[in-house]
Amino acid sequence: MTGFTLYLFHFDPPFKGVSHYLGITRAGRERQRWREHEEGDGASLTAAALRAGSLAHVAAVWNNKTFADEKSWKRAGHLRNRCPFCTPGLAQGAPVAIATLRWRGLAASAFSGVAFPASPSRRAN
Ligand SMILES: [Zn+2]
Repeated sequence: MTGFTLYLFHFDPPFKGVSHYLGITRAGRERQRWREHEEGDGASLTAAALRAGSLAHVAAVWNNKTFADEKSWKRAGHLRNRCPFCTPGLAQGAPVAIATLRWRGLAASAFSGVAFPASPSRRAN
């Protein structure tokens, strides 16, 4: 694997009205990065959400991405349009969390390393 992996957290329940977080990490380092989020060392938003009791479902991952992709996707917003939990048509069947993170829960679910197959089409805005 090369490059970077983008990953999308779907918060359940939403934290202060925020339902999603898009992150990036070096390929092959996903589980380690998610554990950092669970320990409060990921991002201030994810730390606050998990500490408050929200779960973070890893809703999708995309391999072979760049920091420019992350920036562009964050700027475009509407992350729910890339989330199979919020936009069920993206999933081939029922959406399944790749992993579920909880505060200091140490990412118990196994990460298969397989990217979510459907990369949602880019919005034009
Ligand atoms: Zn969602």
